[in-house]
Amino acid sequence: METLQDGAVTAPDGAISAFPLPENLPIILDRNAFFLYYAAPMVLSKELLDILACPLCKTPVRLEGALLLCENTECACRYRVEDGIPNMLIEEAERPCPKCSAQREWLPDKDTVRCPKCGAKFTHG
Ligand SMILES: [Zn+2]
Ligand SMILES: [Zn+2]
Repeated sequence: METLQDGAVTAPDGAISAFPLPENLPIILDRNAFFLYYAAPMVLSKELLDILACPLCKTPVRLEGALLLCENTECACRYRVEDGIPNMLIEEAERPCPKCSAQREWLPDKDTVRCPKCGAKFTHG
């Protein structure tokens, strides 16, 4: 077995990352922060992440675990990353209503998501 590189760390749950620690980044020993940071380089390149945008509202997305979250709070669609490939299909995305958290319907003809519970609508203008 190879010796771990400098900066190898042990996650709180015992998982080991052999990625060298980056410079100038705070190390937060928190389970979510660990996976957010350390999962990112394995899942998606920064170059790809920089050009990805929400297909509904065109707002940039950020990676959290294996989900790409639209940064537009009115839209709030969540796209899955499956085997390193972002699934940017709105119809397959999680579409939580920002008002009541119910799953919204996707109305492709109107570029709209609509909440069946509280009626809130979001339409890409
Ligand atoms: Zn969006
Ligand atoms: Zn709702």
